[in-house]
Amino acid sequence: MSDLDTTNPATLALHAGYRADPATNAVAVPIYQTTSYQFGSAEHAANLFSLSELGNIYTRIMNPTTDVLEQRITALEGGAAALAVSSGQTATAYAVQNLARAGDNIVSSTDLYGGTWNLFQNTLRQQGIEVRFVDPSRPENFAEASDERTRAYYAETLPNPKLEVFPIAEVAEIGRERGIPLIVDNTAAPILTRPLDHGAAVVVHSLTKYIGGHGTSIGGVIIDGGNFDWAAQPAQQPALNEPDPSYHGAVWTEAAAPLGPIAFALKARVTLLRDLGGALSPTNAFQIIQGLETLPLRIREHVKNASAVADFLASHPAVASVNYPRLQTGNAARRAHAYLRGGYGGLVGFELKDGFAAGQAFINALRLFYHVANIGDARSLAIHPASTTHSQLAADEQRDTGVTEGYVRLSVGIEHIDDIIADLSQALDAATSALSAAAE
Ligand code: PLP
Repeated sequence: MSDLDTTNPATLALHAGYRADPATNAVAVPIYQTTSYQFGSAEHAANLFSLSELGNIYTRIMNPTTDVLEQRITALEGGAAALAVSSGQTATAYAVQNLARAGDNIVSSTDLYGGTWNLFQNTLRQQGIEVRFVDPSRPENFAEASDERTRAYYAETLPNPKLEVFPIAEVAEIGRERGIPLIVDNTAAPILTRPLDHGAAVVVHSLTKYIGGHGTSIGGVIIDGGNFDWAAQPAQQPALNEPDPSYHGAVWTEAAAPLGPIAFALKARVTLLRDLGGALSPTNAFQIIQGLETLPLRIREHVKNASAVADFLASHPAVASVNYPRLQTGNAARRAHAYLRGGYGGLVGFELKDGFAAGQAFINALRLFYHVANIGDARSLAIHPASTTHSQLAADEQRDTGVTEGYVRLSVGIEHIDDIIADLSQALDAATSALSAAAE
């Protein structure tokens, strides 16, 4: 444990939650690759199982390597506790399932990662949880879609490919009046903004993206902000206020009270991880810690490079428009400035004047950028959504999600900016030549 008196992300990323291994004094966080932990005595075991004492029981539910990752992310996001899980998808699913049961609903922004859209539209619906999708550009839509069975609001800070920042404070406020917490997926904007500071109650991340950064390990995390009064309107949050038959009738807001404002995280750990088992492996926790230690440094480079790429593209004759939060106007710009205090992110979208064929020709000509569906890797990545991630959507649905025929999404990496721009420049030239040759 470290008792750091700082809020600086660059220091927290290296030091929060760990000083040296209590068993060996190892400075690097060790990989505790174990399934089980020997109990000190029969009484000790009984105390751990009854939650009257906290400690290691079984790696499906907790692990010392994973614990460091959880403490570090908690410090960086300014929360009260965190729960690391096997993927970003698991984090989203558990965050919702921790509150909503069959017959309940949540209200979600339409601007979502496709995997989350599928989870909400199909799998959760099949489990009896209705997801009501609303346009996030008008925060009142969340109020209008809510009723007495709405258990949460859900949104992404910086959804791609639209890249329009979500009105976190406005929607969090609407929810707080009604006893409804806002869950925010902050995968695209770690360090750049802390949704909990703006009123969100829970944050989720895919650790697979910027936080890992190396592209080696899938993981996810749920951060409990400790800033939401779950008991204020108990009828709105039965999962945390009614006796839980799976834990001898525990009422989570009461059971967690001696441990801190961590009812949400505690319940997710001891019920969902216990029952559904989407645990992060200790080796992946270690890998993600290696990435996390340099996250603040990398994010600075992502932002610097993406900003330069946006300016380069904006002045290129083959480009019709550029989408980067710093270059937006109106409400989108106001929100980008208000929330992305640490920089405007590493994602850039742009539309090629020559449409679908130009988009594909551009992607085929890239040499440095990888052609992948991922984001947030240290390497530069590109995709043409209309022919890949969004190809199953109808044209009007594509438009609603911010995708046009010639739209390209870049996740700008931390290579030298001259090499990034050189690759984009030659690929734009190659796409233009390929199209003119085809037209002749
Ligand atoms: N949230 C966002 C914004 C994402 O981009 C992704 C993955 O692309 C996920 C969640 C899901 O994360 P994972 O792939 O770790 O399950």
